[in-house]
Amino acid sequence: MRSFWTEILNAAASHPFPSVPGDLLSPLDLDYGDELFPNVPAAPGMPCTGEDRSIYRRGARRWRKLYRVNGHIFQAKRFNRRAFCAYCQDRIWGLGRQGFKCIQCKLLVHKKCHKLVQKPCSNEHVDPIEVKDDANGESTLGRAASVRSRAEPEPPLPETPPAPVAAPVRNEDLEPGSQRQYSLEDFELIRVIGRGSYAKVLMVELKRTKRVYAMKVIKKALVTDDEDIDWVQTEKHVFETASNHPFLVGLHSCFQTPSRLFFVIEFVRGGDLMFHMQRQRRLPEEHARFYAAEISLALHFLHERGVIYRDLKLDNVLLDHEGHIKLTDYGMCKEGVRPGDTTSTFCGTPNYIAPEILRGEEYGFSVDWWALGVLTYEMLAGRSPFDISHAADNPDQNTEDYLFQVILEKTIRIPRSLSVKAASVLKGFLNKSPSERLGCGEGGFLDIVSHPFFKSIEWEMLEQKQVVPPFKPRLEGERDLANFPPEFTDEPVHLTPDNDTEIADIDQSEFEGFEYVNPLLMSLEDCV
Ligand code: ADP
Ligand code: MG
Repeated sequence: MRSFWTEILNAAASHPFPSVPGDLLSPLDLDYGDELFPNVPAAPGMPCTGEDRSIYRRGARRWRKLYRVNGHIFQAKRFNRRAFCAYCQDRIWGLGRQGFKCIQCKLLVHKKCHKLVQKPCSNEHVDPIEVKDDANGESTLGRAASVRSRAEPEPPLPETPPAPVAAPVRNEDLEPGSQRQYSLEDFELIRVIGRGSYAKVLMVELKRTKRVYAMKVIKKALVTDDEDIDWVQTEKHVFETASNHPFLVGLHSCFQTPSRLFFVIEFVRGGDLMFHMQRQRRLPEEHARFYAAEISLALHFLHERGVIYRDLKLDNVLLDHEGHIKLTDYGMCKEGVRPGDTTSTFCGTPNYIAPEILRGEEYGFSVDWWALGVLTYEMLAGRSPFDISHAADNPDQNTEDYLFQVILEKTIRIPRSLSVKAASVLKGFLNKSPSERLGCGEGGFLDIVSHPFFKSIEWEMLEQKQVVPPFKPRLEGERDLANFPPEFTDEPVHLTPDNDTEIADIDQSEFEGFEYVNPLLMSLEDCV
């Protein structure tokens, strides 16, 4: 029987490789003076002298969508209490964010009615609102709240008490053969291993089996009051899907406490690519090719299942103990995308955001191939293609807007030291026009598979993890944390006790049904 890959490669051979349009052939660049990792660190895990970690570790974000009409600034909301539209007087049903609320005067209307509102905003004089929404906590979320507090008090609405947290099912009460639920008590928290824009990640041990997992902890307070509240549900779904692929981090279980959500996931021991890039400056082409190829397979798997990943970057690519990649962090994913479908949410990590997102266009899977271009460039050149670190002293150029302008307008310079094939693949992925981008034309994924840069890749073997990785992370034992930054592993591992006032603001009904146990992993465990 002919394998999937034989079919693909035969099809690829008959498919002409798209030529790079002439105007994309950029001036070449010999200059390595502005490298991000200028030297070797004093000891493993230490930063290089002069290293600016903030450049790459800038977090992922969603930007709130705000709709301006008659001085109002409307934002989509779910309402858990009874609310009525100020325009048509009908009830606004909570589900599906059919309601819009003005973040200044608190006027409530249906989404369908918001453009028809004649009444001007009664509170237009408040300070300009930052449109960006940073989930870090010290963010515009906070700033938006301060605007809210200066606004008119909200008209009273009949309250219904918040729903209690779904009562955890006690394992003793379960029917024989049905799934066990987990809680925090089942795990010993060993170390902090990472932090992102939304989560803290711990290395933990499941006490019963002594197996080690990673535990991604998200504060519920970061999830509520966000237009895109469904991202937690999406992250969980994609973790479930991911459990079936060798280059994606799979899910063990999910549970919650009144203040937090917990994803127990595979622990990937080799650390993230950010950590390795900070030590190795730039990678030999052979290494970058291997990682880019495995990442391509992971992205293609997600795309085939209707998922746009939307947050490919060095810190979301992990290395396992053998040196194979695993993508993690599905908090920015968009699910349910069929071929040809598009979406429009402005989100991602600034340095990796594709031009079509910045231009406010509808977009599809193309944004992931752009991000792979940025990441491959970083691996090969040791710096971002949109390096604005030279502009750090100029306040006009040290802004996100400037970075976005550079992404949109500047011709990307490819270091002259790279091979012709590497330069070609970078230009292919970093084409500012999504329809001409590598991986996005008629040939789709085949164009990537058959690109000359990937000629030496045996795709079928690669997918079966049969290709020996070019680099094996140094590890002494299963719990060695040498590949995780000391800035995290030195942190105290405990979780701060729940704060009653913070919990009072959380609508627990949003998180009903979050609990989950992966049946496959469970049967594995029962064999222990
Ligand atoms: P966020 O959604 O906040 O960005 P991530 O899921 O990306 O959170 O996790 C933050 C960091 O934790 C990652 O950059 C990585 O270094 C580390 N990490 C995440 N998941 C794992 C895992 N399964 N195994 C090992 N390290 C992980
Ligand atoms: Mg992340």
